[in-house]
Amino acid sequence: MDTTHPSSRHQGLEDLRYLAAKCVRCSLCKFPPLVKVESQATSSICPSIDTYGFHSHSGGGRVLMALSVLEGRSEITEATRDAIYQCTLCGGCDVSCKYVSDIEITEIMMALRARSFDATGPTDVQRRILDNLDRNGHPYESGTREDCLADIPGVRVGPGPTILLLGSAYAMSPERRTTLRNMVRLLGAAGIDVSVLGADEPDVGTLALALGDLKRFDRSASAAIGMLNDSGATEVVCADSEDWATIRAHWPKVAELGPPARHVVEVLDDAVRAGRLTLAHPVRVRAAWHDPCSLGRRSEPYQAWDGEVRKIQGQLLVYDPPRPVNRGSSGCYDPPRRLLRAVPGLELIELPRNRECSYCCGAGGGVAEAYPELATAAAMERQREAGTTGAELLVTTCPGCEQNLGGVEVAGVPTASIYDVLAASVWNQHDSFTNGS
Ligand code: SF4
Ligand code: SF4
Repeated sequence: MDTTHPSSRHQGLEDLRYLAAKCVRCSLCKFPPLVKVESQATSSICPSIDTYGFHSHSGGGRVLMALSVLEGRSEITEATRDAIYQCTLCGGCDVSCKYVSDIEITEIMMALRARSFDATGPTDVQRRILDNLDRNGHPYESGTREDCLADIPGVRVGPGPTILLLGSAYAMSPERRTTLRNMVRLLGAAGIDVSVLGADEPDVGTLALALGDLKRFDRSASAAIGMLNDSGATEVVCADSEDWATIRAHWPKVAELGPPARHVVEVLDDAVRAGRLTLAHPVRVRAAWHDPCSLGRRSEPYQAWDGEVRKIQGQLLVYDPPRPVNRGSSGCYDPPRRLLRAVPGLELIELPRNRECSYCCGAGGGVAEAYPELATAAAMERQREAGTTGAELLVTTCPGCEQNLGGVEVAGVPTASIYDVLAASVWNQHDSFTNGS
């Protein structure tokens, strides 16, 4: 194992060298799996290369960067650092490559970030984020995690059987308050007795992980897992899908979370199917669903593998025992679709790039904070795609997606959170988006 982080199960670049060496430079990672491509207009899956245009800004390009560093042909410098981080870590390239190979592109890119962080430290913007985490316990310059509590009246603050982790973006962003209130009201209407932790809610480590600060991530994850395990909770519900992906795919590298974790849309889907939440009022709108990468392909559970890699016939790699491979298809795709289909009057439209082949909104991987030009370009591309379908509304759930997609206007398709749409149906309220009637 890589010696940089011997106490956890993160894979370092050396650990992943055998996979990086399997890259055949085919560039299929720049596209959705070819059998899924519907048109030239939706034939890309990589916001990074779409925005910057260089091979280095693709999954395969970064695999080659990793190999070059491993073989001593190049070094990570401040000049090359941007090319490593100008990527949303959306995992689209990873899904596409795995149609033909088993290269773990996302793991390689995360290991490259860790190597970069250790070699050159963070960029100025990243440094400010990390300083805020140290000073405030969240990535923002100011504010507290309790700021949102007045907007979710009646919610219990403190330990309870079901802890709702709000995440920083929902708790700290005033523009997400209506959505947050609707989410908590929906859980209450479904008879789910949630409590929030307010000032005591831990940072789960999502941004530290994305920036390659693995020591900080290990500290954050370890503290959060210990706190939740000691809380007496029997279930953890995640509001922020970025955090949910972190908990599912990366916390197991650090320690085991005792109570099971689910995303809010899974909980609400169960409630509607069991008849505990009634979507009574029509919401007459043609709505397209945007699959957040973090709710979908990036949320597949971590699968530990400690086997042996052997070479046979001089070149073929075999794994003993077989190595489990996540291919993106086991993410959370059906619960939000079932919820929207259950809303009377709502017509659900599929975007051409959907489920594990979804096109990223552009906000993830620390990009929204550090490379706004990439975040904006990706959101515009996704909005254009929605505009081609005749959708009147683009619905999603991740606070980053809601914020980033809602921040651009190119195709006349407003963005709404699924909780606002569901609230419109439960309470006949249309205060958070205008298309419903
Ligand atoms: S990473 Fe995979 S899909 Fe991309 S160029 Fe290499 S082998 Fe091809
Ligand atoms: S993770 Fe997403 S943005 Fe980054 S290289 Fe892969 S497809 Fe492109």
